[in-house]
Amino acid sequence: MIVYSYFSGVYVNVADSLARQPEGKRGFYVNLTNRCTCNCTFCLRSMKQMREDSSLWLRKEPTVSEVEQELSALPWDKVSEIVFCGFGEPTCRLEDLKTLLKWVKENHPSVPTRLNTNGLSDLQYKRDTAPDFAGILDTISISLNASNAERYLALTRSSFGLRSFDAMLDFAVRCKKYVPHVVLTVVDHVEDSEEIRKCRKICEDRGLTLRVRVYEDH
Ligand code: SF4
Repeated sequence: MIVYSYFSGVYVNVADSLARQPEGKRGFYVNLTNRCTCNCTFCLRSMKQMREDSSLWLRKEPTVSEVEQELSALPWDKVSEIVFCGFGEPTCRLEDLKTLLKWVKENHPSVPTRLNTNGLSDLQYKRDTAPDFAGILDTISISLNASNAERYLALTRSSFGLRSFDAMLDFAVRCKKYVPHVVLTVVDHVEDSEEIRKCRKICEDRGLTLRVRVYEDH
């Protein structure tokens, strides 16, 4: 599935979403790629059976115009938010992602946009990528994952190594200039109140919001 929704813990296509919930608004998600610069220990991508069974595993990445076609067909009066996330890291297709965020803003300016990301695009593209999102993104949700670089690397197995944690935090702070809502997330399966407390402190010190969330990819 390229564009999908979420209903009672299940990923559903647009038609199923409307059949199950004809009225009311809901978020729709855009799945651009399976690629990622991390290889998190908890990621569903790494579970072979899960990958093969999942309707979110892309056999071929959709082109920008294929995604635009699917977005065009959405029931826009029922869209509360467009979220770029999925089984991989959307910023692995940074230019396409920006084109599509712009498309949403130009065609449906009242609908908020969100990106769920590992926050490592500066390392991938070797430049400051935060300004890329100015004017096209309302919320950026960045996976904090852990309270220190060692623990972060052990969990994410980032291809950029130990420097990833600081780079992700620097990126988050710079995003505040360009994106109205910057949220860092940590999954509740951390189940370690001291670790959560440290994550809160990291965010407070930098003026960032922390959300402790139920696990889903990103
Ligand atoms: S959980 Fe997210 S950041 Fe981690 S490997 Fe999976 S897609 Fe990448």
